[in-house]
Amino acid sequence: MKSEKKNIEPLKISCDTHDCENNLHCFRISKKIAKKQVEGSCSYCGANVVDWIRVRDRRLEDLEFTIENLKKEGIRHYFWHFKLTTKHKEFISTLLVKFV
Ligand SMILES: [Zn+2]
Repeated sequence: MKSEKKNIEPLKISCDTHDCENNLHCFRISKKIAKKQVEGSCSYCGANVVDWIRVRDRRLEDLEFTIENLKKEGIRHYFWHFKLTTKHKEFISTLLVKFV
């Protein structure tokens, strides 16, 4: 499997990816900043832009609202719009063959 991974370039994103000016925040709570961060607010700018109580209700009839709010997190936004290449699809296929 290692040789298959070499064909795919690593993604340039991490859990704390953010672009606060464009309303793409990081809601990850790290040990370093947990004491000063308000739960649910952005780790970098402090914005509190998601109605977490409503999102965490996970009501099917509120799906559109939930998705729009979760896309305010940088990493979720990235993967929401990520386009799989042929190489990605081929790699996934090799995993499926090995694990199914
Ligand atoms: Zn932010």
